Amino acid sequence: MMKCIKTFNEKETKALGKKLGDLVKAKDVLCLVGDLGAGKTTFTKAFAIGLEVEEDVTSPTFTIVQEYQGRIPLYHFDVYRIENIDQMEDIPYEEYFYGDGVCVIEWAHLIEEILPKDYIKVQINYVDIETREICFEATNGYYKKLVEELLK
Ligand code: ADP
Ligand code: MG
Repeated sequence: MMKCIKTFNEKETKALGKKLGDLVKAKDVLCLVGDLGAGKTTFTKAFAIGLEVEEDVTSPTFTIVQEYQGRIPLYHFDVYRIENIDQMEDIPYEEYFYGDGVCVIEWAHLIEEILPKDYIKVQINYVDIETREICFEATNGYYKKLVEELLK
């Protein structure tokens, strides 16, 4: 199941991110995919607002994962700099993936082989300077309902 929607400016992407942050529950996993500058971090920042995270969410530059406190914890991964899957062993990633928070994983396709079985994949495609196509793919019925709720 995949559903795509276009956003015509950053504000629209943020509205979508925040709404998803409002809807998610503990243990939900979100995989973000898209080129540099597509809007993954923009989406994540708004998602965090929906989760009631008060701290400003930034791209974790020197760490692979950053934890934030919100309505439920947010575990924000950015695995862009991963060159070898073995580097993931340096962090207790399973404690995050199967922990009590919500995981957002930027560049998730780079660690495909260790991802949890079920998640929502959010693929952000650059269309033009202010337009993005955002595609949501759900791997199971629970996530499918969540995506339907998000886009209705
Ligand atoms: P990524 O994390 O995918 O590398 P960022 O979120 O850091 O990307 O950057 C996205 C950039 O694109 C931001 O500068 C943002 O203002 C801009 N932008 C323009 N239009 C949009 C849009 N419709 N949705 C999201 N970001 C947009
Ligand atoms: Mg980013």
